[in-house]
Amino acid sequence: MDLNRIAAFDRLVMTPGPTMVDERVRRALALPLTNPDLDPEFARFYAELCRRLQGLLRTRSDVLVLAGEGLLGLEAAVASLVEPGDRVLCVANGVYGEGFAEFVRLYGGEPVLVPGPYDRPVEPRQVEEALARHPGIKVATVVHCETPAGLINPVQELCPLLKERGVVTVVDAVSSIAGEPLEVDAWGIDVALGAPQKCLSAPPGLAFLTVSADAWRAMEARRAPIRGYYLNLLQWRRSWLERGEFPYTPSSADLAALAAAVALVEEEGLERVIARHRRIARAVRTAVRAAGLDLYPVEEAAAHAVTALRVPDGVDDADFRRLLWERHGVMIAGSWGPLAGRVWRIGHMGANARDEHVVACLAALDRALPEAGVRLRTSLAEAYLAAAGASGA
Ligand SMILES: *Cc1c(COP(=O)(O)O)cnc(C)c1O
Repeated sequence: MDLNRIAAFDRLVMTPGPTMVDERVRRALALPLTNPDLDPEFARFYAELCRRLQGLLRTRSDVLVLAGEGLLGLEAAVASLVEPGDRVLCVANGVYGEGFAEFVRLYGGEPVLVPGPYDRPVEPRQVEEALARHPGIKVATVVHCETPAGLINPVQELCPLLKERGVVTVVDAVSSIAGEPLEVDAWGIDVALGAPQKCLSAPPGLAFLTVSADAWRAMEARRAPIRGYYLNLLQWRRSWLERGEFPYTPSSADLAALAAAVALVEEEGLERVIARHRRIARAVRTAVRAAGLDLYPVEEAAAHAVTALRVPDGVDDADFRRLLWERHGVMIAGSWGPLAGRVWRIGHMGANARDEHVVACLAALDRALPEAGVRLRTSLAEAYLAAAGASGA
């Protein structure tokens, strides 16, 4: 196999991360490199990138960008905040929400689950009941966009009520940043977690996070030391934030690409970027319904960046996605955990939140679904165009 072919692929990857990457972002990967540990210019670049991320996340908290995929940020937050015996409330109405509880157990904590069906948001009342039933909860984890189900949890309601009770709030915003409204400070989020390859559409390989003063205090007040070296956020505080020295060698090429992606969002304007995601998501849902397919999550909590729909009866998930990719050149995603084989996900995030990409994806589904024996009531692409045009912007 010719390895150069991998880089030359020009088929359409419409998955909810990693996404297609804009050429301007890909070019940043090829910029000249320096020694990031020693070059003061690089330290200024990193500090500026963190300031720009503060702007996107609407926060004055410290921002750090770590080398490692998005999951590293989730694990670093739990490893740094949770010590043996700590009670941690985990909003667990999805694959990532349940995953947080696994991390909590791994680091000796005691997860208190607030479960729920994967197709609807957890309500503030459920969180209040859990807090009342389990005194002494120190940290809470919430997933903003449960990407595997295309579902949004009401972080803007859950975090203020947790914060009022003195709970440190950790929010996985990996697939909502730059796709959904997100106000880290105004909503009382102590640690917000992000990654480049979702709505920012940069290459995977980094994790970024915000750490509030309350979160730093909670880490400093631990009795037991943090179990973990690379995952220890206090290490970042003591070397980068206090002395301007990186604790580990930064992934400079990936950081350059992330900075280029952030610049594209700034150029368009965050509000407009979010409005574009919202408009496209609404039109995709209208098209899915018009064609007679079933959306997975309740409509009022459907995500802007990904649409999850039920695999039609009688269709094999993996076979169909292989057909769509190999014969029609379009990749959509299946799902995970209990949703595996039952749910398809169309990612319309970041560089893919463009009418051309969405129409090409839906047109491929228009051709492929009948080949798999599914009769559509109308063309997905045409229904999309009618709906997207009608809603303007
Ligand atoms: C993608 C994603 C992650 C993990 O990111 P990776 O970079 O794949 O590790 C975490 N949480 C959510 C909600 C995601 O969508």
